[in-house]
Amino acid sequence: MMKSEQHVNVLVVGGGAAGLAAAATIEEAGLSCQVIEAQSHLGGRVQTCAVPGRGVFDRGAQMVNGDMQAVLELVRQQNMHCAPLPKTGRSLYLFDDHVYPADEFLPPDKIYDLLEEQILRWDSPKEILRSLLLRFQWWTTPWESVGEAGRGLKHLIATHPATAGSLGSAIRQMLLCPEEEALAYSMLTEAFGAAPEMLNAHATREIISRYASRRDDMEFHFPEGMGGIIDALVSTLERPPLLSNPVLKVVEAEDGMNVHSAQKSWKADHVLIAVPPPAARQILFEIEGQDDLFELLGAFEAGDMIKTALDYETAFWRLKGLSGTAIFADPTGLVVTDASADDSSDPRLIAFLGGPEARLWAKLSEPERQQRLLDQLSRAFGPAVQNPKAISDAVWVDHRWSGGGYNATIRINRNAQAMDRLADWPGRVSFAGAELDTTFWGYVEGAILSGRSAAKAIVDQRICKYQ
Ligand SMILES: Cc1cc2nc3c(=O)[nH]c(=O)nc-3n(C[C@H](O)[C@H](O)[C@H](O)COP(=O)(O)OP(=O)(O)OC[C@H]3O[C@@H](n4cnc5c(N)ncnc54)[C@H](O)[C@@H]3O)c2cc1C
Repeated sequence: MMKSEQHVNVLVVGGGAAGLAAAATIEEAGLSCQVIEAQSHLGGRVQTCAVPGRGVFDRGAQMVNGDMQAVLELVRQQNMHCAPLPKTGRSLYLFDDHVYPADEFLPPDKIYDLLEEQILRWDSPKEILRSLLLRFQWWTTPWESVGEAGRGLKHLIATHPATAGSLGSAIRQMLLCPEEEALAYSMLTEAFGAAPEMLNAHATREIISRYASRRDDMEFHFPEGMGGIIDALVSTLERPPLLSNPVLKVVEAEDGMNVHSAQKSWKADHVLIAVPPPAARQILFEIEGQDDLFELLGAFEAGDMIKTALDYETAFWRLKGLSGTAIFADPTGLVVTDASADDSSDPRLIAFLGGPEARLWAKLSEPERQQRLLDQLSRAFGPAVQNPKAISDAVWVDHRWSGGGYNATIRINRNAQAMDRLADWPGRVSFAGAELDTTFWGYVEGAILSGRSAAKAIVDQRICKYQ
């Protein structure tokens, strides 16, 4: 086929970190590549906005740690200023009407370790036998025993964790004290943007085990915004990405792939879908195995998240010996942290509200939502929190092009293998994104690594035989 302007070796759908990193790798290998982006800007869930007179607000991703080397390499290339997040002082945990020092309870990494152990235990024959024996221990006569055994088995089948399989049941079976159970529940609701009852426990355990670092994920951030890494990725591309062009349809033909947006069509040897699974579900695929693909994409649902930045004249919480970190049992999924950049800019608290409460608050008007947050923060930090110099929020609920935030997760009773199956999808269509990465699942680092690895597979396997 004659290569017209409409033809490329690889067409990348999605101009987030994954898609842009993939495009750079594909071009480096000497293949032609075009990135198509639905929105009028690149970066996806990395989105830095200028706030007149007071720097920037990262509406999406903001923080990294020292093990996230793919991001840090781009930071070095772009000469971005990297600031440590303030950490000193006492962190708080709010449960009922009490405000506790958070270090009286299990630290987050311990909660994650216990949760992983609990979910793994569900699969061990010893644990299954133990729960069977527990059910049958109170039989008295043989006839009662038979009846009870029947009822017991029925109940077991209905409620055994391997069947119920939600993260919520795993949290309950960790047998923590009520305060710690509520802490774990709220923290996980925030981390995954969904009620733990809705999350597939086995898939969540897999996600947790994919965090390839023992360091806190919030060590550094960037006073000029994380958007700089998107600029670094774009700066190397030969073809500028096409914006405002949502891809609607991907069709496999004998001579290659046809990709259609509302305005334009392309021909490509290979298509890389670098959009989150809930957004990919909106694309019509006419390819081999399309029903299977729809089932895999349907395993995921997007999280719900509201991120709010509050700027103050002074870091008044530090004067009380507080770190600015507070985890709330209620509203479930509310976590606050000090995200001040450095001494040259206003002190800043960032609040993350994830899960069902975020969905409820998203329906409020902006002033109502922000006042509700300030009222909650007063419980932790006192009345001074009520007077921020500025407040901005980003609502990631039913977001058209990502579904929501932070990421999409696999839900109960859906295919727990969907991450690997999508990452290894055979043929002329491949998938990449933060949700498919094996080392930093759900982070910008993971998006970049997943994009590069999918691109390398396309190049290595010579799926594109057309160079
Ligand atoms: C509030 C919030 C805070 C976060 N904080 C952090 C953090 O501090 N650190 C961190 O590492 N991570 C953080 N994350 C997670 C991180 O932002 C994401 O995991 C990562 O950016 C995802 O990158 P991606 O390229 O896989 O997907 P995306 O960034 O979602 O990119 C996908 C792109 O595809 C486009 N697209 C969708 N559908 C189509 C279509 N049909 N046609 C064409 N284009 C399409 C979208 O517009 C988007 O630009 C945060 C996320 C949120 C929401």
